Amino acid sequence: MSKPIEHVVVVGGGSAGWLTAAVLAAEHPRLSVTLVESPGVPPIGVGEGTWPSMRETLQRIKVSEAAFFRECDVAFKQGSRFDRWVDGGADDVYFHPFSLPQGYGEANLAAAWRQGHRDVPFADLVSYQPHLCKQGRAPKQPQTPEFAGVANYSYHLDAGKFGVFLQQHCVDKLRVRHVLAHVDDIVPTGDGDIAALRTREAGTIEGDLFVDCTGMAALLIGRHYGVPFVSQRDVLFNDRALAVQVPYAAPDTPIPSQTTSTAQACGWIWDIGLPTRRGIGHVYSSTHCSDDEAERTLRAYLGGIDIPTPRRIAFDPGYRARFWERNVVAIGLSAGFIEPLEASALALVELSAAWLADDLPATRAQMDTIATRFNDAFLYRWERIIDFLKLHYVLSKRTDSAYWIDHRAARTQSARLRELLALWRTRAPSRRDFPRIEEIFPSASWQYILYGMGFTPEFTERASDAPARADQYFREAARLTARMLPQLPANREMLDHIRQYGMPPG
Ligand SMILES: Cc1cc2nc3c(=O)[nH]c(=O)nc-3n(C[C@H](O)[C@H](O)[C@H](O)COP(=O)(O)OP(=O)(O)OC[C@H]3O[C@@H](n4cnc5c(N)ncnc54)[C@H](O)[C@@H]3O)c2cc1C
Repeated sequence: MSKPIEHVVVVGGGSAGWLTAAVLAAEHPRLSVTLVESPGVPPIGVGEGTWPSMRETLQRIKVSEAAFFRECDVAFKQGSRFDRWVDGGADDVYFHPFSLPQGYGEANLAAAWRQGHRDVPFADLVSYQPHLCKQGRAPKQPQTPEFAGVANYSYHLDAGKFGVFLQQHCVDKLRVRHVLAHVDDIVPTGDGDIAALRTREAGTIEGDLFVDCTGMAALLIGRHYGVPFVSQRDVLFNDRALAVQVPYAAPDTPIPSQTTSTAQACGWIWDIGLPTRRGIGHVYSSTHCSDDEAERTLRAYLGGIDIPTPRRIAFDPGYRARFWERNVVAIGLSAGFIEPLEASALALVELSAAWLADDLPATRAQMDTIATRFNDAFLYRWERIIDFLKLHYVLSKRTDSAYWIDHRAARTQSARLRELLALWRTRAPSRRDFPRIEEIFPSASWQYILYGMGFTPEFTERASDAPARADQYFREAARLTARMLPQLPANREMLDHIRQYGMPPG
């Protein structure tokens, strides 16, 4: 009988490590899960935007949503607002909401929009959610149970507090063993697997399966196994970020319901509202501007608000050629990182942890089969994410810097993205273009970006277009908007309510 998988060792105590440990321990009560974290290497501590999948993950690991709101300085996120991405003008704004368009898949909404309503922004016509965002509404009411929503939502959170929250839950409720020790060396088995980790403070730690959550150090997947890193620097140029925390001018300042991403000459600025502060950062390409220029751009965006020296973060955009090698799975920054646009990094962590938990090999003999499938699935996901992020740059008409012009060069786009854009000249993105289950960005997301950024298709008329039905869905979106706006509280009001009274159980 092949060796049973009884003990999993997660190396790294950032969001990736704790989320993975939590999902594994919650799903497999008999599994022994140890998390080893270096006392001398802090987690990266950024990553404030999440995807709606986080609601499922938190439910899966059985935390209280109200406790999560209180302890992690959480606010609601209902999508992203993109400012100045198309031509850089002051009224250049569009939304990518989390809710699907009304009647998505039931009628050709995009064709009906082009035919009869092209003066209305696509997202405003097909969804109530941009209107909720513009009015700063929360996605739920005081009587809405935990994890349920009137509108689809995810969270903005304090990354540092989230790590502490997950750690407490893992250790107190899920029996995860927490070891504070720096891993110095790896003890291999005779056939090339990892048998144990040699640590500075806690001796040797053995395991059957190791999860590399060591962030950009990529200790096991990169340094030990040497799995190649597939750089994406020639596709998506951003490789630096400047991050600051900015206080509100007054304690009752309204909290936006979305991440605002404002394009700049050589990158873009994220602006996220938490209950107690804003988190703001400039992501940019070091090939196209200097760190000092980038800081001046950030300060100009803040319009004279006095801020401390921003934190500087460098990253190499790309991912590993394989994520599961022998008895090591890389999850989080060790697997790769592109850039924070559309906040897909934690969503990938969640998908990886869920896959591992759902398909945890019972014995070593099963591991290679599962590893092959995992690598195939996640390679597909990374490639789709890169195409989706690149779409935001390819569709821009900005000419104010080499950064935007270079982004549109055909040599910087994948063949698949170019093919899709050619297809979408005569038909809308559909589920056929994204056929896998658990697509991070479904075809609706591609439609929101394409039509939000002024991509102008010439649709071929089809018998199945059903324009009358599409019009009904547009009216439904308008009716829902009119009904929801007066009934949903303001974002800050709802967050204050949760802090004080909690939420009904789900
Ligand atoms: C600028 C920026 C903005 C981002 N914004 C977003 C966002 O909005 N949304 C989103 O989803 N994601 C975002 N991300 C990504 C997100 O921050 C990460 O995916 C997430 O924090 C997970 O990080 P991690 O746990 O993989 O790594 P880290 O947080 O870096 O943790 C690494 C861990 O490994 C441990 N470690 C390292 N070496 C050793 C060793 N030798 N021995 C023992 N332990 C070791 C460290 O102690 C630490 O605990 C952003 C990233 C950047 C750079």
